Parts: sequence; structure tokens; C-alpha cells
Amino acid sequence: MTTFRVPGVPVIADGELISTNPATGDEAGRLPVATADDVARAVERARTAGNWWIGLGDAGRRERLLRFRAVLANRITELAELVNAEGGKPVAEAIVEIVSAIEHLDWATRNARRVLGARQLRSRLILAEFAAHLEYQPYGVVGVIGPWNYPVLTPLGSIGYALAAGNAVVFKPSEYTPVAGQWYVDAFAEVVPEQPVLQAVHGLGDVGAALCRSGVDKVAFTGSTATARKVMAACAETLTPVLLESGGKDAMIVDADADLDAAAEAAVWGGMTNAGQTCIGIERIYAVAPVYDAFVAKVVERAGRLTVGAAGDADLGPITMPAQIDIIRRHIDDALARGGRAVLGGPDAVQPPYVRPTILVDVPEDSAAVREETFGPTLTIKKVRDAQEALTLANALPYGLGGSVFGQRQAIPIARRLRSGMAAINSVITFVGMSTLPFGGVGDSGFGRIHGDDGLREFARAKAITRRRGPSMLPAMTFDRTPAQVARIVKLVKTLYGRN
Ligand code: NDP
Repeated sequence: MTTFRVPGVPVIADGELISTNPATGDEAGRLPVATADDVARAVERARTAGNWWIGLGDAGRRERLLRFRAVLANRITELAELVNAEGGKPVAEAIVEIVSAIEHLDWATRNARRVLGARQLRSRLILAEFAAHLEYQPYGVVGVIGPWNYPVLTPLGSIGYALAAGNAVVFKPSEYTPVAGQWYVDAFAEVVPEQPVLQAVHGLGDVGAALCRSGVDKVAFTGSTATARKVMAACAETLTPVLLESGGKDAMIVDADADLDAAAEAAVWGGMTNAGQTCIGIERIYAVAPVYDAFVAKVVERAGRLTVGAAGDADLGPITMPAQIDIIRRHIDDALARGGRAVLGGPDAVQPPYVRPTILVDVPEDSAAVREETFGPTLTIKKVRDAQEALTLANALPYGLGGSVFGQRQAIPIARRLRSGMAAINSVITFVGMSTLPFGGVGDSGFGRIHGDDGLREFARAKAITRRRGPSMLPAMTFDRTPAQVARIVKLVKTLYGRN
């Protein structure tokens, strides 16, 4: 019998990856660990499957992806309970996550043809004798590497869009949530039994590294910034294009004309949902002086009411990755040692495998709790003079994923000036559920986009074609042009472009 040293820490025994619940240590499932050769073989199979998938055409893929979506919708409770059993996430939170994944799958499927299909573009006078065609062709095989914190929404945000764009996918789920990943790979195989268009390979980081080097045509990575650098370095060896969705340290700005009750409610959910283990979770808040005291009081009151525990209906579950607890503890201790105050929680809130809500104020801006990803149910709240100071501080970190602004008159200009890929006004995190909008970061938060039109194009190559539709009146791209024709070209260019 296998003994689990630390609940939640995956164990490899007899060639199997054993996944356990971080609160109870109960086994959630076990899966075979892939070798580098297994990964290579999966990619080879995916290549054949990808050709078959392309051969189905838009209509064939659409019909199957919509059936896959229906399986997810009809079995949503089963999957949510599995996510709870494996990672400890409360069931209601898992349901919200899966709903968003289903919505994206639906949207990507219904919009793939519009966004990627062949079209003719307008020709310009300078090459009027040619027609311009554009289409977006699938890469072939896409490798998807996913994190554990949103084991359904985050990988499917890449997988669904890659499949809708006509690619086959080889997916490496996080070692902390392989069972949830395998569940929907199996569900997909139920509706597409003919070919392994979507496969999973399991194991630790070395399996992800093998996938980067396996000859896939693109890698879509979601995880920490540190691993993103390794993935990009590995992909550089073969010039394999990468999409990097990495960490964040999102800020909320609360302006003087904000609805404080709404802002406090959103701050608490944005900071504490999934026990704070959210890449686009709120970790730092900048509230302007006139509303600061009232806002802090409302946040503390609301956060203090949250329930914590293993029960599937608690507001906050356990910290999924046990090693993260040391980071959360270090951030709280460091903040307090450097003059910060805990107005809720504090060092005693760290009770492995749980961390209770913690609100920190007066924390210096150069401390770890403000600069590094905490990934726990903690918030720092800082009093600022005005929205301009809030923006300066919010934009001071290398991360730039999402963000939030609460206010009325200046909210839109503030949101536009946040150095981030996304922003929510008078809400938090909502941009991730809006399938029409692209999702991705700037700076240390990565580059490339999932979701929306850009998310579909991320998984396809632009293919440009010119087609002659008549003789050239002024031949330019040929050695057959005469000096007189060159003189006429010069005259034409001055007529067309020479005036303002
Ligand atoms: P990690 O970077 O630790 O792991 C991410 C994935 O990469 C895992 O599947 C991991 O495998 C794999 N991996 C590890 N080493 C390598 C390697 N050398 N080459 C290739 N793959 C490798 O991140 P976490 O799983 O801890 O996820 C949390 C992080 O993800 C946070 O920073 C969070 O902000 C970020 N995130 C970003 C999102 C976004 O959209 N921008 C969304 C969700 C999370 P294994 O688990 O087996 O080690």
C-alpha cells in the first residue's frame, strides 16, 4: 500500500502518478506516468489524428465540439465533485469555473469559421491586378501545459480554441490535478472515438519539458512565470512558437466615487475565491484617502464572515499545493515585520492545509506581500492620495495580467491606463468569462491571447495568397519592366503618396 507523506503532494509509485486531496489525503485517482518516448508517440499519433480532424471540415468539427460541450454541461456536477475531491476547491466554485469553460467551448466552436475561414480582402491600387486572399490554417499539433488552480477552465481555454481552430492537442495537466484533466480527455474521446485528437500525458515537470521538445507545432503554457521562462527556452531550441499565460499580482483601485459596498464585496471575492489561488485574483488594493477607512471596515466585516474547511460547501477550501503555504506565511510574516498590520487574520490564520482570510494594511510597497504572487486568501490595502497615485503603484510591478477599478467618473480612463491585458470596471475577474474578449497578460504575465477572436487566431497561422486577375498595366515586380515604366511608377507614387 502506498503511504502519502503529505496530503495533496502527488506521489509517483510503480510508474503511476497518484493524486491526493490536500485536506484529507484521500486518493483522487492514479494515472500512468509518460516517458519522453511516450510523449513523442502521443505527438506522432496526434499528427495523424490532426489530419483526420482537418478532414472533417468546419461542420464536422463543430458538430463534435458542440456534443463535447453538451457532455460537459450534462455532467457538470460530476466534474465539479471530482475537482473538489482532487484539489479541494469548493463545489460551487468548481461549478462556476466549469460553466465558464463550457461557454468558451461553445463560443470558440461557433465562431471558428467566421474568424479563421477563407476570405478575400480589398486590393490596393498599387497592385490592383491581384486579388488578396487570407485564411488561418491550423498549426497541426498543439501542446498544452496546464496549471492546477483552474484545472478545467484554464487548460480548456487553450484546448477548446486549439481544437476549434482545427488542431490536434496533446495535453500535460498539472501533476496536482491530473485526474480532472484526464476526465475531460476521456469525455472528448466519447464523442470523437475515431482518432486521438485530444490526448493527455501525465507526470512531473520533465513530462512538460519533453512535450516542449517533442516536435509539436505550438506550445500553449499556463503556469508560473519561472516555468514560463524554462518553457520558452526549451521551445527556442526548435523555434516552436509559444503562448505564455503566467502569473499575476492584480491590483484593484477604489476611487472616491465608488460604491463601497459593491467594491468590498468584489474585493473579498476577487481576493479570496479559490482561497486566493487565482492568477487574476485581486492581491493588492489601492483605495483613495476619503473612502479608505470605510472601505477597509467593509472588507474586514465581509471577509471575516467567510467559512473555511474541507466541506464541499465551505467558502474557502484548502491550499491545493502544500508548498504554497510557506510562501503565504512568509509574505504575512514579512509584511508584519516591516510595519504592516493585520486587521483580519495574520500569522495565526495559517493553519495547514488552510489559510483563513487575512487583510493587511500599512504594508511597505517593496515587501514580498505587495510585489510577489502570494496565491493565498490575503489582501493588502493601501491608502493613496488619489487615483493617479493608485495607478502609479498598481503599474509598478513587472506583472501585468488583469485588474479592477471601482468608481464612476474616471473609471474608464483609469482602467485603460492600468498596465495589464485585462481590466474589470465595478467588478472583478469578469473578463475571463466574456468569451468575446481576449485574455492574456503583459510583461512577466506572459504574451499571446486565449479567448475571443484573438484566442482563435493564436492557434492558427495566417496564410496569405495573392492571385493574378488581369495583366499588369505598370509591371514592377519583373525584370521585364522598361525605364519608361519605372518613370511612370515614380510619377504614380508621387501622385498617390506624395501629398499630405
Ligand atoms: P507551474 O509553473 O509550477 O506549472 C505549470 C505547468 O508546467 C505544470 O503542468 C507543470 O508540471 C509544468 N512544468 C513544470 N516544469 C516544467 C518544465 N520545465 N517544462 C515544461 N513544463 C513544466 O505553475 P502552477 O501549476 O503552480 O500554477 C500556478 C501558476 O499559474 C501561478 O503563477 C498562476 O498565476 C499561473 N496561472 C496563470 C494563468 C493565466 O491565465 N495567466 C491562469 C492560471 C494560473 P508539474 O505540475 O507536473 O510540475
